[in-house]
Amino acid sequence: MSTSANDLTIGIDIGGTSVRAAVVDGHGSMLDTLRAATPPTAAALEHCLDRLVAELRDRWAVQAVGLAIAGFLSPDCRTVRFAPHLAWREAAVPAEMSARVGLPVFAEHDANSAALAELHFGAAARGHNTLVLALGTGIGAGMLMGGQIYRGSFGVAPELGHVVVIPEGRPCSCGKRGCLERYCSGTGLVDTVIELLAQSESGHSVLAAESAADPGSLTGRRVAAAAAEGDPIAVAAFASLAHWLGQGMAMIADVFDPDLIVIAGGLGTASGLYLDEAREHYASMVTGAGHRQLARIRPTQLGESAGVIGAAQVARMGLAAGSEPAAALARTAQ
Ligand SMILES: [Zn+2]
Repeated sequence: MSTSANDLTIGIDIGGTSVRAAVVDGHGSMLDTLRAATPPTAAALEHCLDRLVAELRDRWAVQAVGLAIAGFLSPDCRTVRFAPHLAWREAAVPAEMSARVGLPVFAEHDANSAALAELHFGAAARGHNTLVLALGTGIGAGMLMGGQIYRGSFGVAPELGHVVVIPEGRPCSCGKRGCLERYCSGTGLVDTVIELLAQSESGHSVLAAESAADPGSLTGRRVAAAAAEGDPIAVAAFASLAHWLGQGMAMIADVFDPDLIVIAGGLGTASGLYLDEAREHYASMVTGAGHRQLARIRPTQLGESAGVIGAAQVARMGLAAGSEPAAALARTAQ
């Protein structure tokens, strides 16, 4: 099947807390969006997805659906093996949903979806070997080698959020300690603020009173807003994030030698608070500094919409590759 820029697909970004759906055209523009809280059971989640598709199909003529899923997928993207925040286990999610809604359905890892969106419509457009690091609740990573998704041998690469930067550091949900995402995600940023507040005379930080009154009010977004206003604890927390992000990118560059690193996710849109400093740390930490070309490091152009736009692009690419869902994506895994 061939597709034109006028053909519309639905992208659905399924995260641990919310589900975002959009009708997207071939230029990566979102024409219509919906959002729902992520239901806790597989049956309720599937019902929610079907309802979002039905509502969007009432308003638009769409050709296919793409799902961006925060979890482990089989290399051919036909099976969701495990998702830490979703109920699916070894589930043939795209085929089952396709049978229910009567449209081709394709699935992809959420960070890979975001990477594809940045490649086709955003900050990765001129990258060759590109790494997309999504700094959100955790850290998602997508790697494009020569413009193709790199999955590794068994479909799980690259789990860069769980590279250890501080031995015996903060415990991580993966079972290890000191993982990169415990210092450079939105959650890690909040933990740094809490540590700094406990260590210092924090009366001069607005975050001290706020977190004492309501600990849940401390979010990555709130810390970013406080840092933008010059709050000293928030600024110090971002300096720490910049340090570890720079070190993490240097480790990654020593392994992959990318030409472009795109910083995406919720914190990607606040990159003015830390990216210059992270770049300096990266340049000083990378092996052979001064005698090798360094990757360009850029913030996202699509912000938190990258996952949903990328999911719609996965559907478009799947349609273009043939009528059998996941065929295009399976090829890149071989
Ligand atoms: Zn970890």
